[in-house]
Amino acid sequence: MMTEHAVVIAGGGPTGLMLAGELTLAGADVAIVERRASQELESRRAGGLYSRTIEVLDQRGIADRFLAEGQEAQVTGFASSRLDISDFPTRHNYGLALWQNHIERILAGWIVELEVPIHRELEVTGFAQDDTGVDVRLSDGRSLRAKYLVGCDGARSLIRKAAGIEFPGWDPTTSSMIAQVEMAEEPELGIRTDDRGKHAIGKLEYEIRDGEVVYKEGGTVGVMLTEEHVGSTSEPTLQDLNEGLIRVYGTDYGVHSPSSISRFTDMTRQAAAYRDRRVLLAGDAAHVHAPDGGQGLNTGVQDAVNLGWKLAQVVDGTSPEGLLDTYQAERHPVAARVLRITMAQVALRRPDERIKALGDIVSDLLGMDEPRTRIAGMVSGLDIHYDLGEGHPLLGRRMPDLDLVTPEGPVRVFTLLHGARPVLLNLGEPGGFDITAWADRVQLLDAEYVGPWELPALGTVTAPAAVLIRPDGYVAWVGDTTQLGLADALTSWFGAPTAARSG
Ligand SMILES: Cc1cc2nc3c(=O)[nH]c(=O)nc-3n(C[C@H](O)[C@H](O)[C@H](O)COP(=O)(O)OP(=O)(O)OC[C@H]3O[C@@H](n4cnc5c(N)ncnc54)[C@H](O)[C@@H]3O)c2cc1C
Repeated sequence: MMTEHAVVIAGGGPTGLMLAGELTLAGADVAIVERRASQELESRRAGGLYSRTIEVLDQRGIADRFLAEGQEAQVTGFASSRLDISDFPTRHNYGLALWQNHIERILAGWIVELEVPIHRELEVTGFAQDDTGVDVRLSDGRSLRAKYLVGCDGARSLIRKAAGIEFPGWDPTTSSMIAQVEMAEEPELGIRTDDRGKHAIGKLEYEIRDGEVVYKEGGTVGVMLTEEHVGSTSEPTLQDLNEGLIRVYGTDYGVHSPSSISRFTDMTRQAAAYRDRRVLLAGDAAHVHAPDGGQGLNTGVQDAVNLGWKLAQVVDGTSPEGLLDTYQAERHPVAARVLRITMAQVALRRPDERIKALGDIVSDLLGMDEPRTRIAGMVSGLDIHYDLGEGHPLLGRRMPDLDLVTPEGPVRVFTLLHGARPVLLNLGEPGGFDITAWADRVQLLDAEYVGPWELPALGTVTAPAAVLIRPDGYVAWVGDTTQLGLADALTSWFGAPTAARSG
């Protein structure tokens, strides 16, 4: 007999781990299939988290785990400009410098606590879907049966390919070698530009002091070299790195003992569809782009937070399958924008005096307040606006983490979201709402809030009388003194009222 799960996730990288946590909190039975034996990464990859990602982790009560290990800093940036967001109205008005291997270890620790089974050293090798579910084939010859399969299996996603989902976009225009090595001599640290492009040498261990990176003496060195040609098909070797260093720096600094050597390009592509019936895609499986601007992991984690509760409601029958269409409707435009921001930054690192002239103008503009706020809102993810129709500016935007006063004492909005359950927040006359027909799914809280309603990049908005907050922290409905549209919003986001469902 085949093992059954409500959801099987192919790939336990940052996206798959986050999605597993989200589904579990929302009550769905989920398992991960992961090729790697442990959470260790071969190469360095992501360097940290932006504000909105820290916020979504805070919404689950786990942001502190990351904050305790990383370094808070004004790392939000665009091309060579650093964008200070310390004046943004969020508790996390900064970014967090923390390597991806630590991010993955902390996420994996969380999902172990949530008792999500991870089948390690196994690959998904294919699947077949029918009207009631998906047979997920594994590399050991076994299969798992699931109602839904989510491909969180990275840029080369087998799930995406096997589902026949198109991956249109742009071929690479530049290629870089990236390595972690030891060096016999102290190298020149920092960025060097020549007619091939930008190259960089740094230390894996560093501290951020007064906003400046201060590297530790000795230790593992990270090297990034822009290559002469695009399109190498073989994996780069120590010999390639050696030659590359000599070409750029005139010496190889006695490079030895590489712990990883790999390559990245600016290939930019996005899945044409995020879902084919019972198969969905999230994270790098759905969108790839250059690492410039550090958006990939952040976008994947937020895909997971958008999809988790919706998929959980569909598998337990609370909501119709159509709710899943909102996943693509909301997240495809967000990643499409990430692709554009990233392509712009790749263009600005091209070694050309005219591009440099353009870059200087961009830097000048970003030194002004309005452009800084706009672009930082975008890069940090704090300005994300799902199109939920006309209405109050909060509609479709992130709910701020306000300090509320309730009859039971003070509480933060994000604390109410720890269980990944929706909240109807009544800020008007206490007792003014009756949502008995959704009481099994939606928390109702009478609370007071005194203070401004300020949104990042948007400014002050009028205080609402009530807000319906989705488990992902986005506002699904904003109330004035009437409750117009509330029943419709509750039904479309959280399923039919109980009486109607049982009748
Ligand atoms: C040099 C570099 C720097 C970067 N810097 C940043 C940054 O600063 N900020 C940022 O946000 N992002 C950055 N990124 C991007 C970030 O690393 C990715 O976006 C992120 O890892 C995507 O997470 P994911 O879980 O979607 O995919 P992945 O991390 O690729 O995880 C996919 C997982 O699926 C597993 N898998 C694959 N196929 C199968 C299969 N068939 N069966 C079972 N398991 C499978 C893999 O082993 C892997 O664990 C960088 C990337 C690179 C290369």
